[in-house]
Amino acid sequence: MERKRIDLKRLSPHLRRVLYSIGKFADSRSWNVFCVGGSVRDLLLGRKNFDLDILVEEHGLEFARSFARNAGGTFKLYRRFATAMVILPGAVKVDVTTTRREHYPEPGSLPEIIPGSLEEDLLRRDFTINALAFSLNKKQFGQLIDLSGGIADLESGVIRVLHEESFRDDPTRVFRAVRFQQRLGFTIEPRTEELMKTAVDLSLFEKVSPERLRHELELIFEETDPPGAIESMARYDELRFIHPRLIYSEALRSELSRLKENYDWFRRSFPAEDLSNWRLYFGALIYPLSIKNMGETGKKFNLSRRFLSQLIAAKRDEPETERILSSPGEVPPSRIYSWLWGRAQEIILIMLSRITSRPGAGRIRRYLTEFRKVTREIGGEDIKRLGLSPGPAYAMILEQILTARMDGKVKSREAELRLARRLVDKVNRG
Ligand code: ATP
Repeated sequence: MERKRIDLKRLSPHLRRVLYSIGKFADSRSWNVFCVGGSVRDLLLGRKNFDLDILVEEHGLEFARSFARNAGGTFKLYRRFATAMVILPGAVKVDVTTTRREHYPEPGSLPEIIPGSLEEDLLRRDFTINALAFSLNKKQFGQLIDLSGGIADLESGVIRVLHEESFRDDPTRVFRAVRFQQRLGFTIEPRTEELMKTAVDLSLFEKVSPERLRHELELIFEETDPPGAIESMARYDELRFIHPRLIYSEALRSELSRLKENYDWFRRSFPAEDLSNWRLYFGALIYPLSIKNMGETGKKFNLSRRFLSQLIAAKRDEPETERILSSPGEVPPSRIYSWLWGRAQEIILIMLSRITSRPGAGRIRRYLTEFRKVTREIGGEDIKRLGLSPGPAYAMILEQILTARMDGKVKSREAELRLARRLVDKVNRG
């Protein structure tokens, strides 16, 4: 076992204080406490990570509860996973668990959790770079525990499993490998790669629930380069666990790369608007499937019913979308608006990535930047004042005013009122 110390200068003063305070509290009650997993990896790589993973030898949850009270933080217990989350003042999130070993009753099932030693806890982990720990107790503060060559693998940029059965125990690690490879720019060590391929060939994923698979996919889509990660998933033939007919074609590859560009543009242009990476990338991935397979896959992965029906509608509408939006002639803004309005932003971004013509793409962008923001100045009260008794004609008139505004036919409140008066007269005349 290699014993090195973590370079404390790598830690921000605030983080150092938090870690010292955890160690000090543990010393006062004779607990052995370690920082572990992704936090150690990121600290050693000099990457920002505001969450801390803490491991306690015995009674970790009790430790978490009393530490939270002592430090003025909040405590939350996740009984099912035997973990606790402490949020400290200053919003530092600390996940606390007791050292454990895990037993997998069968491949792909959730593990049974059994109390175990620190060594057992480190050796149950996914990759060597995630199996590092350092002590927080004062006497050994910063002393690194590296049982599997994680430091060397971090230095040479390698993702390596800890044992031959790793993917059999938990096939979701196949997706985790791709995620870390992408995020860190690491390579997957050759033997690990072979084991991954075997796990995929043996279709171990059929034993993993769609919820767990979805969780891994969601994490992948939250990374900075989802198309790169999807390409990597395709290289390892992992996409067939989403649907066996999902083919990573050249068309899909370039569409995903356009989707990422459009996504970045949208985020920059509308930073306050919500966009779901999960819906966006999952939607784009299953889009090439037949409508029947798309529907089944969406349901299997619990895509919201509303979004799934919009995705199916977008696919059905695609020839019409091309006809309307890619038309070489003039297309009034109100026509573009009425075709796109009501569709989720993720759907519109998928449409934008798929449309084949430049004018078509330009029109979708203008819808997002201009047309959907157009408002009218008059409202129902004004129509009432013009002498129309309340009824369904109100909505129709207001809609026509919005359309006229969008197409530049009216440009002021007065012009809107003039148009409204004409429309009200028409309705009143019957
Ligand atoms: P991230 O920065 O994405 O949160 P992380 O490494 O912190 O990455 P988590 O999913 O938060 O990942 O898990 C924390 C630690 O728990 C990991 O570093 C790893 O040691 C261990 N771990 C998580 N998932 C698994 C798994 N499926 N199999 C084995 N060990 C795992």
